[in-house]
Amino acid sequence: MSDDDQELGITESKSHNTGEWYAEVVQKAGLADYGPEGMSGFIVTRPRAYAVWERLQGFLDAKFKDTGVQNAYFPMFIPESYLEREKDIVEGFDPEVAWVTEAGNKELDERLAVRPTSESIITPYISQWVRSHRDLPLRVNQWCSVVRWEATETKPFFRTKEFLWQEGHTAHASAEDAWEETMTRLDQYASVYEDLLAMPVLKGQKPDHDKFPGAETTTTVEALMPDGKSVQAGTSHHLGQSFAEAFDITFSDEDEEERLAHTTSWGLSWRALGALIMTHSDEQGLVLPPGVAPEQVVVVPIWQEDTKDDVLEYAQGVADDLDDAGIRVELDDRDERNPGFKFNEHELNGVPLRIEIGPHEVEDGELTLVHRPDGESVVEERDGVVETVHDHFDEVYAKLYAAAEETLDGEVREADDRADILGTLGQHGGYVKAPWCGDEDCEEPIKEPMAAEIVMVPFDEEDPLAEGDHDETCAICDDDAERTAYFAKSY
Ligand code: AMP
Repeated sequence: MSDDDQELGITESKSHNTGEWYAEVVQKAGLADYGPEGMSGFIVTRPRAYAVWERLQGFLDAKFKDTGVQNAYFPMFIPESYLEREKDIVEGFDPEVAWVTEAGNKELDERLAVRPTSESIITPYISQWVRSHRDLPLRVNQWCSVVRWEATETKPFFRTKEFLWQEGHTAHASAEDAWEETMTRLDQYASVYEDLLAMPVLKGQKPDHDKFPGAETTTTVEALMPDGKSVQAGTSHHLGQSFAEAFDITFSDEDEEERLAHTTSWGLSWRALGALIMTHSDEQGLVLPPGVAPEQVVVVPIWQEDTKDDVLEYAQGVADDLDDAGIRVELDDRDERNPGFKFNEHELNGVPLRIEIGPHEVEDGELTLVHRPDGESVVEERDGVVETVHDHFDEVYAKLYAAAEETLDGEVREADDRADILGTLGQHGGYVKAPWCGDEDCEEPIKEPMAAEIVMVPFDEEDPLAEGDHDETCAICDDDAERTAYFAKSY
C-alpha cells in the first residue's frame, strides 16, 4: 500500500475507539470539517453529507405534506420579551441561548435570542391566524438551523452548537387531536430511521423530569449505537395548553364558545446523519443505504490496453441505462488510478453497490455486482440491469437493517435492583429495563456513578406496570413500581 492509500483509509478501530473512528470516517469520507478556530462546536457540512441530508429532507417533507403540513419560515431572532412569555421555555433554554445585544454599531433596545427552538416566535403568529374552529388544525413546519450553546462535548452531527433540523408546530381544537398529531409525527420519524436509514428504533416517552420545557408529554425515538449508547433520534411534544395560554391561541368553537387550543411541536435534526454513519459504517469507511447515498452505484471498468475500447463502451452503456432510469450512477473510468485504488475509495465513500466490468463480463454479457456492506459479489446478466440493480438495492438495505436489528434485539436486558442495573450497563451497555416508581430521585443512583439515565419509558398501553395491577417494586427505592424505565448511556 502506498502512503497515499494509507492516508485514504480508516486507521481507527470501530469497536475499540468508537469516538476516534467516527471522527475519522466523518473527515475521510468527506462529510464534515470543523468550524473556524474559536468556534468549537460548529461544523462545516460538506456536499456529500449535505446530499444525504437533502434525501432525508425530501423523504420526511413528502410525508409531512401528505399529512396536512405546510412549510413556512420565521425570523432566526426572538425578542427576549417573547421568549419570556412561556416561563418553562425561558428557564429550560436560558443557559444555552446565544444573544444579540448590538447590531449596526448600536446597542439594541431589547436583546434578541438566536432561536434555540421557535415556539416563542411561531406561536404568537399561529394565535393571529386562528380565529375559529374552522382554522384548526393548523400545521406549519420550518427547515432551518437553531443554536444551542451546549456545554457538553460536541461531536459532528450528533451534538453541535448550531444544527440543521425541521421544527413543526401545530394547533388543535382538542387534546385528543393534539395527541394524535404528536404520534403521527413520531411514527414518521420512526419511518425515516426504519424505512430510509435501515435502522430499527424504540418508541416511547421521556420521563417527566426530562420533558421538553413546557411540554405535557415528550415522545421520542431512540436508536442504539454500536458502542451500546442510546441516541435521542427525534422528539415529538404534546404541549398541552401551556403555549396556547401564554400566547393566547383561542378559537370560537362550533357552539360559539371561546376555547383555548392545544399545541404540539416536533423536531428531527441532522443528528440522524450521525446515527446513520455510526450504525452502519465500518473500518473500510462509510456505509450508506441506497435510499440516501449520493452515488448509489459506481461502475468500475477493468481493462488492459487491448480490451480498453470494448470494456469502456460496455461500461458506458451500463451506466447510461442506469442513469436513464434515474439511478445515481458514476462511471469511474479514470486512467490514472488502478481498480484496487478505486475500490478502496468508493468503499470509503460508502457507495452501496459496485459494478465491475472486465473483458470476461463483456464477452459473456454479464456484470459483477459487489455489495458494500459485506463485499458479497454476484454475477448477473447484463440484460435487465435496471431491475437487477433495484433488486440489489433491496438486498443491501435488508442486510443493513437485519444487522442493526440483531444488535438492538440482543441489547435490551432486564434488571430489578440497583446493583444489577449498574452491573449490566457496565458490562454490556445497551438498554436495561427496570421497574421504576416514577421519581426523578431514583435515577440519581444510576446517573451519578455510571452517567446513564432513563432514556425512555414505554407508552402506557405498552407498559404492563402502568396499569397498576401488579406487585413489582421500584428497582431503586422499593416503592410501588409505576413504569418500566429503560436505562442507557446516551449521546
Ligand atoms: P428538542 O427540541 O430538544 O426536542 O430537540 C429535537 C431533536 O433535535 C432532538 O430529539 C435531537 O435528536 C436533536 N438535537 C437536540 N440537540 C441537538 C444538538 N446539539 N445537535 C444535534 N441535534 C440535536
